[in-house]
Amino acid sequence: IEGFQKGVPRWCSGCGDNAVLAALQRLLRDEGLRPEKTVFVSGIGCSSRLPHYMNTYGFHGIHGRALPVAEGVRIARPDLNVFVNSGDGDCFSIGAAHWIHAIRYNMKMVVMVHDNQIYGLTKKQASPTSPRGTRSNTTPQGSFLEGLNPLTVTLGVQNVSFVAQAADWIPEVLYAILQAAFNHDGLSFIRIVQRCPEWMPDNFEPWLHDPSRVQLLHHEGMPAFSSGLASLYPTRLDHDPSDIHRARELASQHDPIPIGVLFHDPTVPRYDELVRAETTHSPAAVRQLLDEEFDRFAVVSDGEGGGVDD
Ligand code: SF4
Ligand code: MG
Repeated sequence: IEGFQKGVPRWCSGCGDNAVLAALQRLLRDEGLRPEKTVFVSGIGCSSRLPHYMNTYGFHGIHGRALPVAEGVRIARPDLNVFVNSGDGDCFSIGAAHWIHAIRYNMKMVVMVHDNQIYGLTKKQASPTSPRGTRSNTTPQGSFLEGLNPLTVTLGVQNVSFVAQAADWIPEVLYAILQAAFNHDGLSFIRIVQRCPEWMPDNFEPWLHDPSRVQLLHHEGMPAFSSGLASLYPTRLDHDPSDIHRARELASQHDPIPIGVLFHDPTVPRYDELVRAETTHSPAAVRQLLDEEFDRFAVVSDGEGGGVDD
């Protein structure tokens, strides 16, 4: 395709997705994750192109369905490191039911939602998180409702175990959050505030250009901020991420925006572990059962336009 180079991400210049990709590539290197033991799963949207740019296994799925695919991978291949990249339209609209249940299942995986508050790939339609008044192809007079707060929703789901908020333009904290998320024993949910200079060029400008409107969270276990970061962002907050009530308060806060790990409970049970403990079937035996079911319901052609056998 004219204008695009093989192997070079097909994202606009200045797109926040580039920062997420760079942080992930660094994480895989630093954690020593083997490509054949790592899989990136995505849905549909600009951010969902990310698996194409990782030197690992990848599954570029269908709209809103990244999470059930990732859950299947987690159950069938417990030896793999599972990462999910989704967008605000993909996860919070068509995929909303999967989002709620994935949080509740708490299977071990890192879930990143690149939230640019717009449908970018399809050229600007309002998404569930678009701020009120957003003018778009589907809301030419401006969207009527306040945007959905994905953090408060996630923190309201039973069995939630890890919730964080990152911003693409603060790579040091983005990386520290990804590292904490990867080392969490359950589902890590990260909302990444992501710039879309193509369709929402002014969206996060106030937070980008005025560091006093960003509140960095710090707690035990997180690496110390570099001196450059600490001097740039003076409004640091010492936070106890085991306190879910405080986490919910922070999640409701828009300005200054809290960036860091809001909530962390490593004791929440994991559905994938419970299933494994309860079942007498090995992952291979489960796969064989699924293959047999698939064959039983397979669609076969009868030579006259097809039909269902069975
Ligand atoms: Fe990034 Fe927006 Fe361009 Fe998509 S349209 S690649 S989200 S800047
Ligand atoms: Mg989006």
